[in-house]
This record gives sequence, structure tokens and C-alpha cells, in this order.
Amino acid sequence: MEDCLDEPEASEEGMPLCPHCGEPGDCDHVLVLLDRTYNECFNRDTSGVDSLRYHLEGLLRPYVTEGFLYTGKDKLLAGIVRHAGRNYLPTEDSVDIDLDIFHDWLLEQAASYGARVIDLDDVSGMGYTSKMYVVYAEDVYAVFEKMETYIDEELPDPEEK
Ligand SMILES: [Zn+2]
Repeated sequence: MEDCLDEPEASEEGMPLCPHCGEPGDCDHVLVLLDRTYNECFNRDTSGVDSLRYHLEGLLRPYVTEGFLYTGKDKLLAGIVRHAGRNYLPTEDSVDIDLDIFHDWLLEQAASYGARVIDLDDVSGMGYTSKMYVVYAEDVYAVFEKMETYIDEELPDPEEK
């Protein structure tokens, strides 16, 4: 069989070897280790994903409280806005992010900024009961920054338009 360069190598624990430093497991290049079935992040440092989600909640607030419509072309983002609008309870004043859509969006966005999205089933052969993904980026924070800038532009404050 010929070597396929796109095929990540697996370590003994079933984690791929990082395409940037060659280490198995949770190195500094892991943007997220995501259980997409239960929507949980298992990497050591989830602050990047957490702050992106809080940032998104803040941007969504005027859309859900005032009922503004999202007019951009990002279908997943549109789904997040719709879900948050439908589930907004003024009494609790919380913006509900649909994690199914948010995580699909996160994987898609990360890939579009050059991050490597790997389906763990493809490397481990371990048959996880959950759908697990690991995402690597050479500069994790640069990718998060690009995603923040992107949602800033996609979800401008409707009252300032
Ligand atoms: Zn690494």
C-alpha cells in the first residue's frame, strides 16, 4: 500500500500524532478535542472554545432580545441565531447556544482557517461510542482570533447599522 500523506499516524492510545510537533495526545496544538455526540470538550485547555462561545453569546444578545434578523449567508450561524431567538426567556435573560450547531460550526470554521480536523474513528479503529474529533492548528490562538473577528463581522450590533 502506498503511503498516503493525508492519513494521520496514530499513537498507541488511539490519538493521532500531532501534525505540528509529532507528539501524541494533548499538546499545545490541540484546538479542541471534541465529543460531538455529547458536546463535551476534553482537551486540557478549553478556555479558547469557552471564550469564543461567551463572545458569541454577547453578540447574539441584541438579536434575541430585540428580535433582529441575521441577514448573513452563514447557514450554521443562522441556525444558532434562530435557536437562540426561539429559546430566549426574558425572565432568565440567558442566550441559549445550540451546541450541536455551534460545534459543527466550530469544526467547519477551524478547517476553513487551515486547522486540521481529524475524526478519531479514522485513526484509532477503536470504534468509539461517541463521535470524537480532534482539531490541530499550528497557532491555536490565531485561529480563535480569526473566528472571533469573523463573528464580529457577521453579527454586528443591529442598532449601530
Ligand atoms: Zn503539537
